[in-house]
Amino acid sequence: MSIAALGQTMFDLPDTRDPAAFPDCAVCGQQAWIPVYEGPVRDGGFGHSRRGATVAECMGCGVRRLDERSCHDDAVYTDETYREILGEKTDTNGFHAAHDPLQLERLNVVNPMTLRGKVVADVGCAAGSFLDFVSGLARSVIAIEPGKPYHDSLARRGFHVYDFTRHALDDCAGAVEHAFSFQVIEHVAEPATFLTEIAALMAPGGRLTLSTPNRGDLLMELLPEDYPPFFYRCVHRWYFSADSLARCGRAAGLVPVETRYVHRFGVANTLRWLRERAPGGRDPLPGLDDPALDSVWRDTLAREGGADTIYMTFEKPLP
Ligand SMILES: [Zn+2]
Repeated sequence: MSIAALGQTMFDLPDTRDPAAFPDCAVCGQQAWIPVYEGPVRDGGFGHSRRGATVAECMGCGVRRLDERSCHDDAVYTDETYREILGEKTDTNGFHAAHDPLQLERLNVVNPMTLRGKVVADVGCAAGSFLDFVSGLARSVIAIEPGKPYHDSLARRGFHVYDFTRHALDDCAGAVEHAFSFQVIEHVAEPATFLTEIAALMAPGGRLTLSTPNRGDLLMELLPEDYPPFFYRCVHRWYFSADSLARCGRAAGLVPVETRYVHRFGVANTLRWLRERAPGGRDPLPGLDDPALDSVWRDTLAREGGADTIYMTFEKPLP
């Protein structure tokens, strides 16, 4: 057997000691990973999966990551590939139809901070649904998005468009008073570098609000066999708790100032998972289709930290 073939056999299940699968932690630099999950992970919509993946936790900072071999290459974000993997529409109008209704959740998290007269940036803005909701208040809007198919439309709406934060730094370093980045940090290759570049874009005293899936989602506790293969997915390299997300921000020189949890689904979603071992989206259940009940449910999970999404706001210290 050749050395190469021997290596293949040894690492059939990605090994946390294999630096190709688990390089030094991109948040804290340590190379000490403890496996927390081995099995299939989602690759696209429910029912599509990749076998033989490993998720491990960094002993230095507590972030979890999917082994590098199971991660999609970052190039998927520069064209239609990423939306196709998700089974979503790849054009601007299709994106707006799906994502405009979700922006109220984000505006709620901004409340009571005002964006009036501020320089605002959205890093990973896709077709710019959130920016359309805030651009009337903002003085200037910076749209950072690697997906080229969205660029013409973003520019037509008067936004300053860049594909990556580092390319915005020439024009906008130190200018952004409130930066946003929703559901992006879990995808990137280097999360601390990602935040360091955003921090360079920010004005002293400026804020960054970001969101990411909460690995403390209640369903991870309730369904430890059936939910992790859905929760862990090839497009998400990183899995944060509030604590590890705060550490990542500090590694970039940012100070965490507020954490909020948001649960996006009603109680029927959880009950369907428990009954069917499958996602039921927003489909109601007979006798449980009650907005008041869902409101209490969402508030409870948000208070207890078992909601599906973490929102964290950071401040860039004054010099
Ligand atoms: Zn680490």
